[in-house]
Amino acid sequence: MNLLNKSLKKILEQTSSEELYCAISSEEQDVLYMIDPYGFFVDLSPNFEKITGWKRNYWIGKNMKDMIIPQDYPKAFKQLLAIKKGKNIKPCELRVRVKKGISIGRFITRPLKKGKEVIGLIGIAKDIAIEREKIFVHSKNQLFDIFQHVADGVIVQDKSGKLILVNQAAVLAAGYPSKQELIKDQAVLLKRFEFNNEQGKPFPVTKLPWRRVLKGESQAEALFQYVHTKTRKQRWVIVKSRPIYDVMGKLNMVITITHDVTKHKELEERKEEFISMASHELKTPLTSINIYLSILKKRLRTQDTTNTVFISKIEKQMSKLTRLVTDLLDITGMKAGRIHYQMEYFNISDVINEVIEPIKEMNIKHAIKVNNSKDVRVYGDKYRITQVITNLLSNAIKYSPEGGDIKIFLKESHSKVIIGVRDHGIGIDSMHHKKIFEHMYQLNENTERTFPGLGIGLYISSEIVKRHNGEIWVTSNKDRGSTFYFSLRKTKLP
Ligand code: ADP
Repeated sequence: MNLLNKSLKKILEQTSSEELYCAISSEEQDVLYMIDPYGFFVDLSPNFEKITGWKRNYWIGKNMKDMIIPQDYPKAFKQLLAIKKGKNIKPCELRVRVKKGISIGRFITRPLKKGKEVIGLIGIAKDIAIEREKIFVHSKNQLFDIFQHVADGVIVQDKSGKLILVNQAAVLAAGYPSKQELIKDQAVLLKRFEFNNEQGKPFPVTKLPWRRVLKGESQAEALFQYVHTKTRKQRWVIVKSRPIYDVMGKLNMVITITHDVTKHKELEERKEEFISMASHELKTPLTSINIYLSILKKRLRTQDTTNTVFISKIEKQMSKLTRLVTDLLDITGMKAGRIHYQMEYFNISDVINEVIEPIKEMNIKHAIKVNNSKDVRVYGDKYRITQVITNLLSNAIKYSPEGGDIKIFLKESHSKVIIGVRDHGIGIDSMHHKKIFEHMYQLNENTERTFPGLGIGLYISSEIVKRHNGEIWVTSNKDRGSTFYFSLRKTKLP
């Protein structure tokens, strides 16, 4: 404490530390300060008054803490402690009160030692508020430049849906000459476009991702086509919206990214068109081959049994090929919304029996069991539902190469019927349960064995079930078999 009684000059005389030298030789806008080990100002350089606006004499004897804003106390105390322990620390930036308000100072503080004892601290503080402001403005401009030049459209709306920011790509995508004109037009913006989904049907504006986020969803995305009502110009976009919350966790803004996928979509359409044409062309010769095969089989049956075995084998392969071609035709048809459903009331138990009979005959490795004694009627497209059951059953056989029981069962509730197909095969890890119903999703985990297929059977099944207002799902574990379920309605929806 004897330090308090000594003048700055005397201390300077007593000390020859490097820091002190540095302090003396510092620039004019740097304030030199000396504090005792408890943080009380012992002395301040005269330019303190010019830089802070405070009277120097008022602060000498006061604690430095009173200049620092409370939020920065922990940082300041940590520094003080480290300096006193003799640690070599980096400059510290603290927010301090000056006469005009709050500024930022960069503090370099070093201990003043007498022997081993720290008798005080000496330092230089530089006002870096202007420097900071410059950096802030620079980064803000830089960020704005980046925002403007992002290749995807970026749109920011406030919580009422009003446009706050739009970048150049978004302006161009909407067909406006400038940002100002787009913002001016925002009240009628949606009326300028028609929105369509992948099946060419109207995409409801209430389902637009930013609308969903404004209504409370934590994320929303969609793929749709928008057509300018006047110019008929059309683009495909993937739109993703996310909310920005305020400190209270309430919705403050919505940020939307629009990614133009028109070219990609056109390519995909051309590819699908090709697959559709190719499978259509394949179907005609396949049908003829099938007819000739059955004629041949009939004729040969009376003569030679060995040849009929070969014919049966060809028939089996032909039915696989026919199914593949039908699947390919279906998938392109479904995507383009060309599939028509013939809805009627039918007996699902009969359909299950019809599907399993021929499979039972051909299959000796698996015991196919049915828990299907009831006479259960459902509402749907009989042909398509037959397709779903056939698909689930052939998968159950294909993915249980070691054989075992396969069970088909029905569960009935007041309005619904659930059809289940259980196998004891290779099973599916839970991480794939949702994805296997996606287009061309296959698991490639089994390295010793590859299963033939295109990864579209479950996608087709799931599309069919969805069109019946039903659900399709799986419960399974790896190596523990799988059970696939789908639900159908017993009656027509009102
Ligand atoms: P594909 O069988 O032609 O590959 P699917 O769409 O029918 O196509 O099935 C998608 C994927 O789901 C399959 O590749 C397979 O990995 C998995 N899968 C389907 N059914 C089963 C099942 N019963 N057991 C285990 N895995 C299955």
